[in-house]
Amino acid sequence: MKKQTSDKKPNRRCIGCMASFPQETLIRFTWNGEKILADTSNRNEGRGFYLCKNKDCLELAIKRKAFNRICKRNIDAETIRKVVEDAEQNN
Ligand SMILES: [Zn+2]
Repeated sequence: MKKQTSDKKPNRRCIGCMASFPQETLIRFTWNGEKILADTSNRNEGRGFYLCKNKDCLELAIKRKAFNRICKRNIDAETIRKVVEDAEQNN
């Protein structure tokens, strides 16, 4: 029996559905203290968080106020949607 070597990477938790997935299936975002940035290169500094690449999880995260908790302030839902839409277009 062969040992699996592909599961070395830790899974990341989506802030929408709260399920864990391999990092490459999620979009990473960072909060830099001023705004949310889509981190398509996975290299940005700042507090990172992850979201599935679908609208349901985005809406779930907005509904659960997940962004507000991460950023410790009230983030406008439209602002979040814009950032996520831009990220999806760049992917
Ligand atoms: Zn999700």
